[in-house]
Order: sequence, then structure tokens, then C-alpha cells
Amino acid sequence: MTAVVASFFSSGTWLAIRNLLFFFAAVFWLSFAYWVYKDARRRIDDPWLVGLATLLGLVAPFVGPFIYMLFRPPEYLEDVRERELEIRAMEDRLSKRDLHCPVCRSEVDPTYLVCPICTTKLKQACTNCKAPLEALWQVCPFCETLIEQPSVAMPTLEIRRRKRE
Ligand SMILES: [Zn+2]
Ligand SMILES: [Zn+2]
Repeated sequence: MTAVVASFFSSGTWLAIRNLLFFFAAVFWLSFAYWVYKDARRRIDDPWLVGLATLLGLVAPFVGPFIYMLFRPPEYLEDVRERELEIRAMEDRLSKRDLHCPVCRSEVDPTYLVCPICTTKLKQACTNCKAPLEALWQVCPFCETLIEQPSVAMPTLEIRRRKRE
């Protein structure tokens, strides 16, 4: 029996099988290292860290890629960028939402003097050039006319509600 085993291991068949196994191991090793490189490039912005991850995948066969999988960033860079863009778009939409009628909450343009939906007075118009004025302005920035503060304060949501109660 041992003679059969020994002769098998010294035979050309065993050598061929062993070389084939080595070959596949090497192919898998390089494939895993390449996969680490590809994956790291999609997840890591810093080229040095991508290089380090690839090196880890190359230097420690099979263990390196596994270690990389444990510590890699959870998200793809394109997903992170997409989310940042979405957040920015959402912030834009939110900042535009400031321009709402205080009474009926319908969208209004910054140039509107009254709300077109509920006719609430939104802004005072310049007595000279009719430009819409902000509540805090003391002088019209378009024609330098001094602004007379209105005797009646601008209606706000709170005042309106109290009046109705
Ligand atoms: Zn309104
Ligand atoms: Zn003016």
C-alpha cells in the first residue's frame, strides 16, 4: 500500500496534479487581489489606501482579501456621491420652501406683494418705484426712497390665528 502511495507521489501524474493545483491557487490568489483592487477603487477615494488594500490582497493570499472585506467602507463612492447630491437637492427644495404664504402656506414668489391665493399682504411696495420691500429695510434699495414703516404690522400666522379664535 505504502509502495503504491509512494509510487503515486513520485509519478508524473501526481506532479501534473500538483502543478495544476498550484496553478489554480495562483490564479485564485491573483483574481482575489484583482477583485480587492477593483472593489477598493469603487469604495475608497484615496489612491494610497487603494494601493494598500491591493497590497494586502497580494501579500497575504486569500487571508488578505478576507481582512479587506472586514474593514472595507460599507458604501460605494458613487452611492455616497449620489446621496450627497440628493441631500443637496433636498436642501435646495427646503430653502425654496421658505417662500410660502404665512397664512395659506401656498408657494409665493419673493417679488409678490400679496398672496395670490388668500390675498394676505406679504410685502410693502415702495411708494416711489413699487418694488417689493423686505420688512427690515429702512430705505428702498432700488430708488433710495426712505420707507415709512406701516402703521399696521404685517400679519403673521400667529396673529391671524389668535384673531380667529
Ligand atoms: Zn396665502
Ligand atoms: Zn423704490
